[in-house]
Amino acid sequence: MVRYGEIFLKSEPVKRRFVSIMTENIRLALEAEGLSHRIEAPRGRILIFGDEPRRIAAIAAGTFGVVSASVCTVTSPDIDGIAAAAVEHAGRHLRSGMSFAVRARRTGVEGFNSQELAAAVGSAVLDRVPEATVDLTAPDYEVFVEAREFGGLVYDEKLGGPGGLPYGTQGEVMALLSEGIDSPVASWLMMRRGCRMVHVHMHSGRFGGADVEEIVLRHHARLSAWVPGHPLDLLIVDMEPFFEVITALKEPRYRCILCKRFMLRVASILAKDRGAYALVNGDNLGQVASQTLANMTVIAPAASVPVLRPLIGFDKEEIVERARAIGTFEARPGSTGCTVAPRYPSTAAPAATIAQIEEEIGAESLAARAAGTVRRYRAKNGEIGEVR
Ligand code: ATP
Ligand code: MG
Repeated sequence: MVRYGEIFLKSEPVKRRFVSIMTENIRLALEAEGLSHRIEAPRGRILIFGDEPRRIAAIAAGTFGVVSASVCTVTSPDIDGIAAAAVEHAGRHLRSGMSFAVRARRTGVEGFNSQELAAAVGSAVLDRVPEATVDLTAPDYEVFVEAREFGGLVYDEKLGGPGGLPYGTQGEVMALLSEGIDSPVASWLMMRRGCRMVHVHMHSGRFGGADVEEIVLRHHARLSAWVPGHPLDLLIVDMEPFFEVITALKEPRYRCILCKRFMLRVASILAKDRGAYALVNGDNLGQVASQTLANMTVIAPAASVPVLRPLIGFDKEEIVERARAIGTFEARPGSTGCTVAPRYPSTAAPAATIAQIEEEIGAESLAARAAGTVRRYRAKNGEIGEVR
């Protein structure tokens, strides 16, 4: 049984559309694992029937939009059938001296109400484990029973899901993906919010670390594993010519600002090309010199589509924790240094100075040229596929 949360609050037609997209995403995920199954979506729940319920539940619980999933025993929709299954579940976990609670629901079934169902199941459990006690506020063990038209459902475990909205319900966005910790988390958060994703990475060529591209490809592949069955594109742009130009400038302090603005410029061109609505990056207020409020204000206008910054208010610890949970954290990233970054970057670059430098170097045409250098990798089910 799969539960969803927020989608529940939507209007009936929106809910129907979201649930059908989520159901399709679960189907794709099960198909990617070769798990045969049958899916039904009665009111408020998604039910999946199959021979490997544990694996099915774990996969469903990894799908965006899912709040939790449980392995259930299906019974006849009457008190006796439900109680017998509940006793079996309780027999596995409930020991003498422990307290327990029965949580009962009933929809579309006549002949008893949910209190009567709970009471009957409770006394059947007590018959089996007489030394147990009932505690409805803070029980050691809970067994959930539901009587529905099609049958009874009994379960006692919930696997937590990522929550959010079903992948693909919000249109496409383009995330700027680097080898760092932050940007994969930013991308994941927007995917979890229902955005179809495309990644773009700006490659530093000889100015960057030798391991960067490999790490970015790994991030990309891992993120694609969160949306099984959906192809995920990564566009790689050659930044080397731009770095040749800005490293020849006399003043090194503004390089990071120029670089960040250039990235937004190029990504805006690529996003518009594909019809992506917005860019996403891993900016986090105050984390580094280019992310001071003053510099962000100078950098942001270089984008010609909106920029989403889902990590802006996070603490670094929270981001690291998320990266670990998502599977993109790299404890030993290897050689990733950027040789263009100056030793003393400006933390408050004057916008007029930046505009003047960009005018001199012809940033706009450099960006258009960079946008023409794209290499494309396509990942699916956690693996990098064809290269074009
Ligand atoms: P991250 O850990 O995501 O690299 P960071 O804290 O190191 O972030 P920056 O390197 O200043 O911060 O980058 C800020 C954001 O700009 C990143 O989160 C990412 O979205 C984007 N970005 C940085 N470098 C690149 C790159 N080479 N290609 C694409 N996007 C990049
Ligand atoms: Mg970085």
